[in-house]
Amino acid sequence: MTGSENNISICALSSGSSGNCILIRSGGSAVLIDCGITGKAAENQLAQAGLSPDKLDAIIVTHEHVDHISGVGVMCRRYKVPVYATLGTWKSMINSIGKIDPSLIRYIAAEVPFEISNIKFHPFETSHDAAESIGIVFSSGEKHGAVATDLGTVTKHIFELLSPCSIALLEANHDEHMLMSGPYPEHLKKRILSDFGHLSNRICGALCGKLVKEGKLRQIVLGHLSNDNNTPRRAFESVSASIEAAGFKVGEDVKLFIAERYSISEELID
Ligand SMILES: [Zn+2]
Ligand SMILES: [Zn+2]
Repeated sequence: MTGSENNISICALSSGSSGNCILIRSGGSAVLIDCGITGKAAENQLAQAGLSPDKLDAIIVTHEHVDHISGVGVMCRRYKVPVYATLGTWKSMINSIGKIDPSLIRYIAAEVPFEISNIKFHPFETSHDAAESIGIVFSSGEKHGAVATDLGTVTKHIFELLSPCSIALLEANHDEHMLMSGPYPEHLKKRILSDFGHLSNRICGALCGKLVKEGKLRQIVLGHLSNDNNTPRRAFESVSASIEAAGFKVGEDVKLFIAERYSISEELID
């Protein structure tokens, strides 16, 4: 990463329903949002991002679903990285991540801002069907970014928090038509479409269009795509159409791309 101390960046090391691990950086600070990939994969992807794992300042866990926590224990033990999560998330994941040194356990709560090194964090509640899940807005100086997946729905409050963000990783989980005509059982389809599930391409597109027009969003990476109910092309086309309908040109006014599922994606930097 280049530029001034106050630059912020988001780099998806892996993103999708098979595993999520997002690196955010500012100045010399580096924090992982979730680590739902193996320790080995996280090490490899961090190396590709040019970061030694022992330089990680923290892992923030958004919720206890396996696609967000499978490598958390390993990375915490191997590199003595503090792990931040809400009380509900800690209670739900503690038996799944192996032994954690109590000195590395940090508690956070929605709507209670905190700082790690020079990065300020504002966790917010999401309606996803987990114990106490959060999304993250972060900032350094005047720059704001967001990592928001597993959203369920976008409330007015979440929209207001996302508005100042110039860079964001946002969830485009499924194409509604593919989901409805696909092989999933009825109850699972209902759960995914509900306010406790995931954002569709259509809803993500509407959110992006509004954030570009009314907020400061200019660089977007779409993540947490379903392997069964979405394709990168459908997600891109759907969200692009909404951004263009809002009067902005994708590729000129707004940068938009899809996060890689199993490998590191291009970094968003502001
Ligand atoms: Zn989840
Ligand atoms: Zn997830």
